[in-house]
Amino acid sequence: MVAMAINVKVLERPRLSFWEKLYIPQVLKGLMITIRHITNHQPITVKYPEEVKALPENYRGLHVMPADDEGEIRCVACKLCEIACPTQAISIVSEPADDYGIERRPKVYNIDFMRCVFCGFCVEACPCDALRMGMKYELSSYNRAGLVHTKEVFFDPNVKSDAPRDNANFLYKMGKGEILDSPEEISKIMGLDGTYSRKPGSPQAT
Ligand code: SF4
Ligand code: SF4
Repeated sequence: MVAMAINVKVLERPRLSFWEKLYIPQVLKGLMITIRHITNHQPITVKYPEEVKALPENYRGLHVMPADDEGEIRCVACKLCEIACPTQAISIVSEPADDYGIERRPKVYNIDFMRCVFCGFCVEACPCDALRMGMKYELSSYNRAGLVHTKEVFFDPNVKSDAPRDNANFLYKMGKGEILDSPEEISKIMGLDGTYSRKPGSPQAT
């Protein structure tokens, strides 16, 4: 049997100076940092719920459904948000809406906040600005059923949108929150299959 040579590297124990052996300077240095934080104390907490912290503009809170010019819910029940949702938190049941000049609207629109991760994919997927991320975050409930919110909860008639309500006929410019509804853009995509045709006398998109 051939013996294998083993290289052994000998490390020397670091030599501490006299003051380092005392540890007193290091302890004093740590105490100075602690005292500095105590004397320059800047509270970063707030007395919630009496005080509410200002949220950033791009905060993604509980969803909001804006209203159109008629004060109606804008959703056309296309279910793109339901498909885009990675946690399958959205459930939609549609119903005919010929009277309103569109093909259908949601009879039921629920989001299960036991599943929602507030990613905002549903908002990105919506082709007619019918869904936005809001600023509310208080969603505690005493039971599971209370965490399933309905369109009646999301709908806010005070939040308006000028985006055309037909399916897929506007582009939402990311970042600036600017709606691109120039006639060129609209005419370019109005002819796409699947867009809704308005009936004579029905509300016109602005
Ligand atoms: S925010 Fe994300 S997880 Fe929540 S409903 Fe929308 S797509 Fe689903
Ligand atoms: S994508 Fe928009 S219009 Fe389509 S079902 Fe969802 S919220 Fe309604």
